Amino acid sequence: MTMQSLSPATQRFLAQSPLKLLIDGQWAPAASGQTYKSISPSDGTVIAELALAGTEDVDRAVAAARRAFEAGWGAMLPAQREALLRRLAGLLAEHADELAELESIDNGKPIRTTRAIDSRVASGLVYHFAGWPSKIHGVTPSVNVPNHFVYTRREPLGVAALIIPWNYPLIHSMQKVAPALACGNAVILKPAQVASLAMVRIGELFVEAGFPPGVFSVLTGKGSVIGQALAEHPGVSKLQVTGSTAVGRGVIKASAGNLKRLALELGSKAPNIIFADADLSKAIPKSFHAGFGHSGQSCVAGARLYVQSSIYEEVVAAMVDLATRARVGHALDDATELGPIVDETQMNTILDYIKSGVEQGATVRCGGHRLTGDAYGSGTYVAPTIFTGARDDMVISCEEIFGPVLPIYSFETEEEVIARANNTEYGLAAGVWTRDVSRAHRLGAAIKAGVVWVNTYDMFDGTAPFGGFKGSGYGRDNGEEVIEAYTEVKSVWIGL
Ligand code: NAP
Ligand code: MG
Repeated sequence: MTMQSLSPATQRFLAQSPLKLLIDGQWAPAASGQTYKSISPSDGTVIAELALAGTEDVDRAVAAARRAFEAGWGAMLPAQREALLRRLAGLLAEHADELAELESIDNGKPIRTTRAIDSRVASGLVYHFAGWPSKIHGVTPSVNVPNHFVYTRREPLGVAALIIPWNYPLIHSMQKVAPALACGNAVILKPAQVASLAMVRIGELFVEAGFPPGVFSVLTGKGSVIGQALAEHPGVSKLQVTGSTAVGRGVIKASAGNLKRLALELGSKAPNIIFADADLSKAIPKSFHAGFGHSGQSCVAGARLYVQSSIYEEVVAAMVDLATRARVGHALDDATELGPIVDETQMNTILDYIKSGVEQGATVRCGGHRLTGDAYGSGTYVAPTIFTGARDDMVISCEEIFGPVLPIYSFETEEEVIARANNTEYGLAAGVWTRDVSRAHRLGAAIKAGVVWVNTYDMFDGTAPFGGFKGSGYGRDNGEEVIEAYTEVKSVWIGL
């Protein structure tokens, strides 16, 4: 990537490097003056420097958010909050291509995806949640006590700290920030260090939209320092963390002090099941995308592919063919289907998982190595890798790899595959491919996961709840559930 290949708008934004923190409606460097470098995984170049926030900056952001909340953000007329959110959604749509570029250079997601999906979905989510403030309401329970009238109120919680990972910053941020604000909370966003650029740009759009100072802050920096400080902070009422199960366990402990409301979206190892009666013309390409989209760096990746034995060899051959032909390359190249791995640490983790699969006796059918050479430069690329012959108890079958590595298993019966699909500590998502409508509903009920996709995969909408069972966390994004999650309910009793 050369800076010249970026749009003028993106170049103007990056020319402000070192980028600052958004606190109390103002841009400021970290109190310590420290910065860190943002690196493009496509070619190893340094894109910009960002402020490395510390605990002092966290304290300032929380105090400003509290002030904004108490000064009336939560009590502002619903229609006013709606208007501001709609203005923001409009700005996100207007700057969608720029946001897509920033996300692609930062986390390596192919530009064709960030342009067509991530940046558009982000503004669509804000439009969706912009409709909520005037529709949030209480009820009047029919109480069994004479001479009393009771009503309930849904009230904002206060300051919400939202901590997100690097793989879908545009979508994850707006999916959580928008409902939190719609409900009247003030928000502090802590993006992942390796993918914060688009979030800083969104901070500028918040200022341009005219949100009151302190209602929305962006803190860039280390999770172990500022994420931890937000989790512990007595001024934070609600904590939403999307990330690994290990980090989720840590914040449960860190947040115990003031009994923060918690929502956790954590790891996964989603099963994707193709029955012999499936429409393979759809099941095969969509299952390839489920396993390898964003180079497997997706929380809902269909990372365990179960194929009924009579079509097993046919499906394996077709998947190997797709994996071998997939265009892996620079995130800013329009032709790229699969981009790089987000950074070197993550690439080495993936390569170690591949090694463990081989050592434990599974067979590599394609890929299995880093991609190097002129086309890849100093970028961090792993060839799409397919394993056969993996047992269910191998490391590659149990642990989340978060990379372009897919074990394909053979199964005989529905009962058997349900048991194997559910034999995991996780429960975020699952896929089922079948033409048998009864079987589709049986699996929709039997699989223990927050979302089951039948004859489709990786579909989301602001109207449909999304979140985990078991070790994949608790709490829900989207649907009415997210409105409940960002409000507290109160009963008011009136003696008549
Ligand atoms: P991660 O290491 O858990 O990081 C997630 C976020 O937590 C980052 O912003 C990180 O900051 C921050 N963090 C790190 N240590 C923290 C601490 N002690 N206290 C508070 N925050 C802390 O996850 P990742 O490797 O970036 O992302 C991959 C993981 O996220 C996978 O397990 C994936 O399944 C999961 N994920 C789940 C969903 C879902 O919807 N369930 C969606 C996407 C991803 P730094 O970047 O600064 O370390
Ligand atoms: Mg980066």
